[in-house]
Amino acid sequence: MSVSVTFLGGLGEIGRNCAALEVDGKIALIDVGLMFPEEDMLGVDLVFPDWSWLVERKKDVACVVLTHGHEDHMGALAYFLRDISVPVYGTELSVKMAEGRIEEVGVKSDLRTITQNKWTSHGPFKFMLIPVTHSVPDASAIVFDTPEGLVLHSGDFKLDPTPIDGRPADLPAFAALGKQGVRLLLSDSTNAEKDGFEPSESSVRQPIADVIRDAPGRVIAACFSSHMHRVQQIADAGVAAGRKVAFFGRSMHKYTTLASELGLLDVPEASVVDIKALSNHPPEQQLLITTGSQGEPFAALSLMSQGRHKFVELGDNDTVLISAKPIPGNETAVSKVISNLIRRGARVVHGRNSHVHVSGHAAREELLTYLNLIRPTAFVPVHGEYRHLAAHAELARKMGVPQVDILEDGDRVTVDGDRTYVERRAVPAGYVYLDGSAVGDVQGGVLRDRSHLADEGVVVVTVGIDHDNGEIVFGPDLDSHGLMDDPSSVLKKAADAVRSAIDEHDSGRTDHAEMQKTVRQAAGKVIRSETSRRPVILPIIMEV
Ligand SMILES: [Zn+2]
Ligand SMILES: [Zn+2]
Repeated sequence: MSVSVTFLGGLGEIGRNCAALEVDGKIALIDVGLMFPEEDMLGVDLVFPDWSWLVERKKDVACVVLTHGHEDHMGALAYFLRDISVPVYGTELSVKMAEGRIEEVGVKSDLRTITQNKWTSHGPFKFMLIPVTHSVPDASAIVFDTPEGLVLHSGDFKLDPTPIDGRPADLPAFAALGKQGVRLLLSDSTNAEKDGFEPSESSVRQPIADVIRDAPGRVIAACFSSHMHRVQQIADAGVAAGRKVAFFGRSMHKYTTLASELGLLDVPEASVVDIKALSNHPPEQQLLITTGSQGEPFAALSLMSQGRHKFVELGDNDTVLISAKPIPGNETAVSKVISNLIRRGARVVHGRNSHVHVSGHAAREELLTYLNLIRPTAFVPVHGEYRHLAAHAELARKMGVPQVDILEDGDRVTVDGDRTYVERRAVPAGYVYLDGSAVGDVQGGVLRDRSHLADEGVVVVTVGIDHDNGEIVFGPDLDSHGLMDDPSSVLKKAADAVRSAIDEHDSGRTDHAEMQKTVRQAAGKVIRSETSRRPVILPIIMEV
């Protein structure tokens, strides 16, 4: 009986991680993540995997298993469950993090908390979560015991021997799987181009403590709200330096509350104050922990950098600590925020000028160690852009893994006895966009229009035409947006051209579409030759 894995996302991009494991005609999903839009995806809020082929096979979909609570692994889950309602398995924290999102979207769900290192059965699937270290607590690898042998998905991981919760990746468990024989390994490629070992999370403790202790005034620290260990380390440094700690940002409140409830975050109550009360204390006793490390335009840090924040006006004595690295696509936004913060007089400490951040993903030596522990028969690198997948594949080949294949979104790998084979483009795997609250309404064409509008501007041509004889009754009036500073002379020339083009149509009543085309061509030609630009031209023809 063959066993296959089909990739819906995450292979060729960082984000929207989602893989479908098929055993005996039934399907278990490993993660259902989202991707944040890239800079050329104008007006798009989120990007999802395309699960349309699963909708067609709805009755075969058995369950979802989550590796961890990051958005790129469970951010699309609520929308998936709206289409395909199945039970979802994960560790307590992963499930609680997913629950928040599901409640916001308002779908029914059947969330099942499972314990790591214990086998769970669901239909033909038998699986187990194994502890790994990552930038969110309670992260796991997943192993499936299938008729074709063990299929292991690493999840997002690093091999941190000294994590701050004292729960390192379970290397003995992985070694045992390796001994038993792993038929197919899927492993995190994010840092496959990075040499050495990724430093431990505990290595940033002292540098962060130094920054916070030595800051002459207020400290504003930004990090991912889901990185509860980082939040803990920043808060610890603040408390040790005698500062009051305030949390800010919707997700920061949500996740710090959740983490405290689950015992994953521990900040003495006496040290925590509301942001409004923070300014009652002298600046050198203030620590604000906030969201916005990704340069998100409406997050606190960005607003502060523009002098538009409700509670915090930055000045010369302030220190901003950015304890995060921009995820791909956010680099420009983050860089702008940093520049603006410095312009306002703040001192900015970030991962590039100080050791205040480490990655949650394994670097090359860790990946080699992992491959050596597992020694799979077949290997497919996952979670990365193509270059990362290729670098990881090279490591595996060097290690002598018998079968190594680089797959992309939509491809499928099948293990069948001794054979391992790959089917390219087995299922549709295009981007599905969430725009406002509608999923899938925006297509590539719409994005091209938006990009065109943003680059070249728009010209609206209004003209009234006599219904009977096709002559101009009023106009043409031309109005432009985003074309140039003073478009009046260009628009006047274009209006003349439109007028004579319409006059040349002396054939009585004109076809509406034909008239639109005439107007668009006449105006476009003049504007192009005068400005070298190609704005979107919208002809509005009124027949009177
Ligand atoms: Zn991830
Ligand atoms: Zn992750």
